[in-house]
Amino acid sequence: MNTALLQEIERGTKNAQIKKNIINYYIKNGSSTLTELSKELDLSVPTVTKLIMEMHDEGYIDDYGKLETAGGRYPNLYGLNPKSGYFIGVDIKQFAINIGLINFKGEMVDLKMGIPYQLENTQKALDDLCSIITKFIDRQRVDKHKILNIDVNISGRVNPESGYSYSIFYFNEIPLSDILNERLGYKVTIDNDTRAMTYGEYLAGCVNNEKNVIFINISWGLAIGIIINGKIYTGKSGFAGEFGHVKTYDNEILCHCGKKGCLETEASGSAMHRRLYEQVSKGASSSLSAQITNEEPITLDDIIEAVNKEDILCIDLVEEIGQKLGSQIAGLINIFNPEMVIIGGTVSATEDYIMQPIKTAVKKYSLNLVNKDSTIVLSKLKDKAGVIGACMLARSKLFDNY
Ligand SMILES: [Zn+2]
Repeated sequence: MNTALLQEIERGTKNAQIKKNIINYYIKNGSSTLTELSKELDLSVPTVTKLIMEMHDEGYIDDYGKLETAGGRYPNLYGLNPKSGYFIGVDIKQFAINIGLINFKGEMVDLKMGIPYQLENTQKALDDLCSIITKFIDRQRVDKHKILNIDVNISGRVNPESGYSYSIFYFNEIPLSDILNERLGYKVTIDNDTRAMTYGEYLAGCVNNEKNVIFINISWGLAIGIIINGKIYTGKSGFAGEFGHVKTYDNEILCHCGKKGCLETEASGSAMHRRLYEQVSKGASSSLSAQITNEEPITLDDIIEAVNKEDILCIDLVEEIGQKLGSQIAGLINIFNPEMVIIGGTVSATEDYIMQPIKTAVKKYSLNLVNKDSTIVLSKLKDKAGVIGACMLARSKLFDNY
């Protein structure tokens, strides 16, 4: 990539700001004619034409050719030049890492899912993460100088502005993004995993024109991502969305956050896991009973697979979690009045089994007029939401509009 624009952005000139707006417009809308763009950005056609030509010469903008219209005039369509830059997204899961590389236009060039990994809060786990990312970069055929940013998803408290991760890899006073930048030799940004999933669904998943969206990440833990007026909401320090740690029950169950009775202790993948063990120890039978009795480890994926194979006990557990979660999502709907609520995360792979009880409980417990505004949908990107979102964030963060 010609990095003239990036330098211009650093200097903060007025033209650089407009060029950033043009890139952000194309990130969200794909392509447009010069007339559409000038209307959208409230600028004269000659000004837009001049800037687009400059950006075309710099390599960022492509002429996509003539647009077919009924009226007989054939204006040219412009959009981002896919080859002018590349971005990497890294999604860290408990037992695996997913990595993707997108081009400037947002198309996936390379995607590697399920690279074995053990997430622990140790220096070794950080070293392993770096070597996995380096290996992925080494195998790329694109010009490495054109890799402009890497975004890494991490669970827990993450401040995307300062680059600090407080829950994982918080070993010294240097921001994690700086440590990764130094180790990898590329610009690195970090973000919370649920927020990245939300952004993935927003730009490349089930969100169409909706601007007020709540994404529910039901995985081992529970968290939400919030989009207000088309913008990701982070809160002051990036900690917004900790829905799982709302005190909801007097159950005396200790949550991993250190408090008792969090929503996550009854409505999450880990809650389903614990309930399965409780039920089997009381004599309930399941296709997983033998594994439990033999003390073989059971993963959340095992339970989800059992649900989808119609294991009655596991189905009951998913329904129980769906009901509990649904009654709390009803509260979110009352507070945010969203246009769309997306059910995502690992547990969403049970599809109808989790959706139906959620929908029933939402209907039962939210305010009637309010819930009519909200459609509740299943995640479209499924297990790729995190990695696609990280790639999209890596690109958007360079133009600071996400
Ligand atoms: Zn908690």
